[in-house]
Amino acid sequence: MGLLLAIFSGSAWFWFEQSLRQDLDRHLALHLRVLQEDFASRYQAGQEPGPIRVADGVRCSIFDPKGEVVFSTSGTPLPNRPSPGAVSLDSGDRMRTSVVRTEEGDWVVAAALGEGEMKAELNEVRAYFFLFVPLLLLISGVSGYFVIGRALSPVEEIRRRAERISRSHLTERIPLSEVPGEFHDLASTFNDMLERLERAFEDLENFASDVAHELRTPLANMRGTLETSLQEKEPPSDDLLHSFAEEIDRMTRIITDLLTLAKLDLRQYALERKPVSLTSLLEEVREIWTPVAVEGGVELTYAPGPEEVSLEGDAVALRRVWMNLVENAIKYNRPGGKVKISLRQEDGTVLVEVADTGYGIPGEHLERLFQRFYRVDSARSRSTGGAGLGLAICKSFLEAHEGTIHVESVPEEGTTFTVKLPLER
Ligand code: ADP
Repeated sequence: MGLLLAIFSGSAWFWFEQSLRQDLDRHLALHLRVLQEDFASRYQAGQEPGPIRVADGVRCSIFDPKGEVVFSTSGTPLPNRPSPGAVSLDSGDRMRTSVVRTEEGDWVVAAALGEGEMKAELNEVRAYFFLFVPLLLLISGVSGYFVIGRALSPVEEIRRRAERISRSHLTERIPLSEVPGEFHDLASTFNDMLERLERAFEDLENFASDVAHELRTPLANMRGTLETSLQEKEPPSDDLLHSFAEEIDRMTRIITDLLTLAKLDLRQYALERKPVSLTSLLEEVREIWTPVAVEGGVELTYAPGPEEVSLEGDAVALRRVWMNLVENAIKYNRPGGKVKISLRQEDGTVLVEVADTGYGIPGEHLERLFQRFYRVDSARSRSTGGAGLGLAICKSFLEAHEGTIHVESVPEEGTTFTVKLPLER
């Protein structure tokens, strides 16, 4: 604002000075013309060049063809310095000259007008600017402070709430009804951010208690059994030791999976980028799971599509994705059920479907299915050894390959998982 005013005042000042000077020069030109005509008529009449009548404030000097002053108004004569336009003299006057041609030679008529009046006017304007500009700045500063303060008070409110928000205050929201219309977007963005933070903290808390539960319960069971056998002074049976070994394997798998997920989250999982034939990889997965499927009375088929499909990626990670999807499709199935793996290419993407005719998943679970430790039916899943980390790992591995995973399911009819991966990355 101050800068704008300074620029405005500077240009107004410049423009004003220029127009005053042009005015002065115009007047001077008029006076000179009168003086020149006066001199010419006197010369033609054979009269002496002076004394010429001059207007108030105008000085005049006339020089003969030899350059000698033949007439001058009171004071020192003007300098004999003919030039086409007006010039400023050291005395502070503006001077203009005119040459009158005669048979004797060139006579010079010079006229000058003082700049005093113009300077006085300029000084007046300058004084006005010096008073007016700071006053205007002061008024606009003070009123701006109040106006902006009022206009920004909702922002101040948002800031105060943001300051108050801590882990235990994440339920706090800004009531949109108390915020003026122009700040609705800001307030609702802020509320959305709080919503996301609240959910993230909730997930984190659930995750920590899930980890504790998954590991603490079996450890407490094992400890209880061992204590009883110590008290009864009876060594544990082979069966008990086998079940301990299985439980330890299960816990080790959970810890390894959690580490994998943590590394993927932190982008510290070193994924390879080598050509992988999905056509053969899926055939391998089918071969590995066929005995388990046969044992469960489930028919496992694979439709590889007409052409060989390859992409750049990490074979181990990708194998893990489909090992898990096919395992689930067999695990959550019934004797006589079917599992079909199919592979096809479409507009630069690879689509792999794993469709089963198993128990299906009720709609309300689909949204949270890929969350860590999420199990639809804990009892059924736990009996099959699952901790609910498999799908979370699938999703993270696929995201690391810029891929996606999508699920559709009809309870009691079956489930289809569709993986999409870009052919080129
Ligand atoms: P888990 O190790 O428990 O199988 P996952 O993350 O692989 O964990 O799967 C999470 C849950 O999703 C499972 O517990 C199961 O309830 C459900 N689920 C996954 N795949 C299927 C499927 N093909 N049919 C029915 N339910 C499934």
